[in-house]
Amino acid sequence: MSDCRLEPDVIRAAARGEWTESLRAHVATCADCAIAAEIAPWMQQFARMDDRAHKLPDPASLWVRAKLLQSTAAADRASLPITRVQIASYLVVAGCWAALLTWKWSALSAWINSFTPAHVILGAAGAETAASLSAMFFLMLIVLASVTAMLAFHTILAEE
Ligand SMILES: [Zn+2]
Repeated sequence: MSDCRLEPDVIRAAARGEWTESLRAHVATCADCAIAAEIAPWMQQFARMDDRAHKLPDPASLWVRAKLLQSTAAADRASLPITRVQIASYLVVAGCWAALLTWKWSALSAWINSFTPAHVILGAAGAETAASLSAMFFLMLIVLASVTAMLAFHTILAEE
């Protein structure tokens, strides 16, 4: 958004073709107003086309509205889809973790328990229980861990 307080005056002058010497001098030195002066006649033409039956809106307010719409639309585009996709991804990944752990929970807890000193001393069937956790399970575990890491990485990148 331009901070130049003369911009509405410039737009009005350009739209009506009523320039004062001071405004003309200002446009020569102010980039924002130069662009505004170039666009103002087009904006007015657009307003006339769009709204023939009604009284012409103030080109300055039209200009401000267009700029506001542009910036909010850009902000929506930048943030909304990413957030929605991220939330969906997290839900899917969380669901996969839950399913995977539920599927092999008993075998997994037995395998974890096999690391306790009592089991190690007794030479308990650590390898046996580990074998009952299929290769498929470990493959899924690795894939899911990678997806989770990638998702976290993507979130960190998106926040910057
Ligand atoms: Zn200016």
